[in-house]
Amino acid sequence: MYKEDCIFCKIAQGQIPSTKVFENDEILAFRDINPKAPTHILIIPKAHYETLSDVDNETLLGKLLQAVQQITKGLEIEHYRTVINNGSGAGQEVFHMHLHILAGRKLDWPPG
Ligand code: AMP
Ligand code: ZN
Repeated sequence: MYKEDCIFCKIAQGQIPSTKVFENDEILAFRDINPKAPTHILIIPKAHYETLSDVDNETLLGKLLQAVQQITKGLEIEHYRTVINNGSGAGQEVFHMHLHILAGRKLDWPPG
């Protein structure tokens, strides 16, 4: 549920500041501290799951995608990319599962 040395658990608990864009009981979204696009938002479950593969709660999985919809609608972002890096080989650096929303510039496809 809460992992002591996890930076995103600390953000979820308000122990480390973040620029919040969305919050409810289970989910928090905040601005990425090192944005890779003009809009770069991270969405996390407040509960600690290391990777997407570890999330065993299908309702929560749906709610995370609904948060993407709500946030992008609220910010009137029509064109965006959602990314989940699962594992270090895929670029995951913070091992508290999160979704990225990237927008505001042309995004290459396929990604690097
Ligand atoms: P990933 O590579 O998918 O694990 O993404 C981790 C993301 O977390 C990176 O884009 C970082 O810039 C971002 N990040 C790390 N620490 C913080 C923080 N304290 N506040 C906001 N974003 C952060
Ligand atoms: Zn965590």
